[in-house]
Amino acid sequence: MLTLQLLPAREGDAIWVRWGSPDAPYQMLIDMGPEETGKELRERISALPEDQRSFELIVVTHIDRDHIGGLLSCLVDAEPIPGFTTKDFWFNGFAHLDGLKPQDEFESMGAIQGERLSNWLGTQNWNKLFAGGPVCRENKLPLPYRDFEGGMRLTVLGPTARRLSDLKPVWRKEVEAALRKAQKNISDEGLERMGANSIHALNDKEALLRLAEQQLTRDNSPANASSIVLLLEYKDTRILLSGDAFSTDLKESVQLFSQGQPLELAAFKVPHHGSRRNLCKALIESVRCPCWLISTDGSRFQHPDDEAVARILSYSKYCPITVGFNIRSEYNEKWSNDDWRERFSYRTTYGSIEDGLILKFQGGALVDS
Ligand SMILES: [Zn+2]
Repeated sequence: MLTLQLLPAREGDAIWVRWGSPDAPYQMLIDMGPEETGKELRERISALPEDQRSFELIVVTHIDRDHIGGLLSCLVDAEPIPGFTTKDFWFNGFAHLDGLKPQDEFESMGAIQGERLSNWLGTQNWNKLFAGGPVCRENKLPLPYRDFEGGMRLTVLGPTARRLSDLKPVWRKEVEAALRKAQKNISDEGLERMGANSIHALNDKEALLRLAEQQLTRDNSPANASSIVLLLEYKDTRILLSGDAFSTDLKESVQLFSQGQPLELAAFKVPHHGSRRNLCKALIESVRCPCWLISTDGSRFQHPDDEAVARILSYSKYCPITVGFNIRSEYNEKWSNDDWRERFSYRTTYGSIEDGLILKFQGGALVDS
């Protein structure tokens, strides 16, 4: 059994993966949401019996606050949790942007809090399975993969080494933004939002397609582009967890992995919380996937965008599909609409406020709960 839990993580991601025996599963975390989520994760970990607080891996996909903030509040800026261990910790720090290993005296995150993070990471197994170097793929080289206890394989589909070096000029700014305490903030994206005014008039597939075809402005954040993208393979189940990566980068690496054929997936956690800037037709058509997952409560950025959901529904090569939201919000509940579900051949599933969305997979498919 493989279980994927998309925890409530405000506007971000916090994904708890368990595999093996349900009584004493192997486990890993992919991202830890913003600070508030980190505190909740701390409670969740502390609520486990002490001998079940060990993780095979913790990954922070990239430096944005909604992915890394929780690490600070859960582990870095708090007392150690008794019994808590992780065998490896994947995160690309400043030295990794040049393809180097961090060396204590040189590694600098670029901010006071960053130093604390850096010092803390220095005491951990940091990118150990990559010999301390960056977690990334090199252009034109085979995609790196690592095998874990219990039969889990992770293949690194991104970032490329170039995307890491692109982050270097804005590293300091990104780190400071990521580590700043939560603030009221209206995103650029929010301001430029045009809104899909016609959303309630989705009377037929042509209308859905028109929404899907709304102009695509692409994400240009170097931090998002540096996301660690992982393909999980456990027995017959494949799941793609894409951080906030760019759609073009994802499509390229998916095609590299599957040699041009549509990649068969059991689930796809779409990039950047369902932003219309990170989901293009070519990416959606590069996979065959019955279950599309979106993690956000819509706060700060009003994700997911209607255009992005319309693209999934219009271009999916698999039919019918399930669209899973980790938590119900004013921005995603419109898709819980019987007329649309029938007309556009999809199901919806929403997680709970307490536990988010929990999905179980067996034999390569989602088990109906
Ligand atoms: Zn994010």
